Amino acid sequence: MEEWKDGFLFVGHQLALDFLNTRPMLHGEAQELLPDFSSLLRWFQAAGVIGSRESITLQKQWGDSARARRTLEEIRELREELRKEVLAWEAGGKLHRGMMEKLNGLLAAHPIGTRLSETSSGPRLEPSFEPGQPEDLLTPLVHSAAKLFAECDRTRIRKCGQCVLHFLDTSKKGTRRWCSMQLCGNRLKVAAYSRRRKQSSGQ
Ligand SMILES: [Zn+2]
Repeated sequence: MEEWKDGFLFVGHQLALDFLNTRPMLHGEAQELLPDFSSLLRWFQAAGVIGSRESITLQKQWGDSARARRTLEEIRELREELRKEVLAWEAGGKLHRGMMEKLNGLLAAHPIGTRLSETSSGPRLEPSFEPGQPEDLLTPLVHSAAKLFAECDRTRIRKCGQCVLHFLDTSKKGTRRWCSMQLCGNRLKVAAYSRRRKQSSGQ
């Protein structure tokens, strides 16, 4: 599994969770992976939501505008509100009324279309996303967040045991504990191994 793509982490297996993971802790410090509008477009591209040509066009159209900056701020605020909600959700809480109302407002303001696309097994219905203004970039995030709460198995939505990243456990057994073996799993195993060694050598 490719975990890094163009400097972003994709360990969530769900767009809204990958979105939360754009502020990971790396080397003991919180890292903002969406510091500006162009990084936001790069993230959407890495996530497969927009194409590379579209990303370039949108950067040219909106990149330096105040609206793009405001949208980025709004998106980052939404991310932190969602983070709190997802943490409570993972702990077995209910979706707070305030968040439900907020998401409903955003869903109404940013409706998503659908389109048929040709696949090897026949036509498939998929979301159609064509941003006409910077604020439209909220659309896929809001829809994915709503789907997370409404459709994903909540017992499979988890925070990594070692860090701040969240993921949807899509493994067969459903026993995934870490964001990734590479980032956290190995670190933990190495620590446990050296602990055992110290104990057995009487140190
Ligand atoms: Zn982790």
